[in-house]
Amino acid sequence: MLSYRHSFHAGNHADVIKHIVQMLIIESLQQKEKGFYYLDTHSGVGRYRLFSEESEKTAEFAEGIGCLWQRDDLPEEVARYIAQIKKVNYGGKELRYYAGSPLIAAQMLRPQDRALLTELHPTDFPLLRNNFKGFDNIQTKRDDGFQQLKATLPPKERRGLVLIDPPYELKEDYDLVVKAIEEGYKRFATGVYAIWYPVVLRQQTKRIVKGLEATGIRKILQIEFAVRPDSDQRGMTASGMIVINPPWQLEAQMKKILPYLVKVLVPEGTGSYSVKWITPE
Ligand code: SAM
Repeated sequence: MLSYRHSFHAGNHADVIKHIVQMLIIESLQQKEKGFYYLDTHSGVGRYRLFSEESEKTAEFAEGIGCLWQRDDLPEEVARYIAQIKKVNYGGKELRYYAGSPLIAAQMLRPQDRALLTELHPTDFPLLRNNFKGFDNIQTKRDDGFQQLKATLPPKERRGLVLIDPPYELKEDYDLVVKAIEEGYKRFATGVYAIWYPVVLRQQTKRIVKGLEATGIRKILQIEFAVRPDSDQRGMTASGMIVINPPWQLEAQMKKILPYLVKVLVPEGTGSYSVKWITPE
């Protein structure tokens, strides 16, 4: 059952946080000349039209990228993220397209870096393949993303970022994430792993946190952005990124920009953020 389509959600507040964290990790990997491996386990299609039927139906991007697009007071990290989104809009003033995680990575990769993008959806995979067919150092594959940690780690570069961004439409995803991390970490303990999660019911989010604590893995940072306090009602109130082996600057960078994002993305005043270690070094 694959009913989730990211086109309904592209550019929302959760994408903004996810893609800023992703960009900051890639920037830090690029401080060294040596190439790295980027694995995007749940890729989506990579590029989204914001004035499509799907995007317009939910208009989620209006409360995400839409709030930042025209601002002239962006912190420098957020400005660099907006510059990535400007690239997909051909440098234009109008916000028409949004870059998913594979495209943000593709725009940043150097010739010595390499990426594998996996996607399982029968409609989305051909779109993904088509969007990346011109990139020599990017491979696309219709396959189960969770399996790729076992199948492709450690990378020959011995450096890399694994982004795990499942839809969580199946409750198993909360456990599969932890299992995949265990498999990956066994093979590649120095890699950076970034897991996106939604907060719909806090208990489900806790499953991931508790599961990761039980692995014994050290150096796990949790970054969360909430538009509303936790609730039992339907809908996502917050989202976050759990980063294993985060670059040393990431904690400070996020603590600097999250107060700005709370203010601008949640002007009604119900927002909040947290940056904390699930397990320190
Ligand atoms: N990472 C993308 C981004 O930031 O632009 C968004 C990905 S979206 C949240 C999740 C995607 O995972 C969907 O496109 C869905 O079809 C795909 N998917 C679901 N289960 C999968 C699996 N087991 N392996 C690979 N892809 C899967």
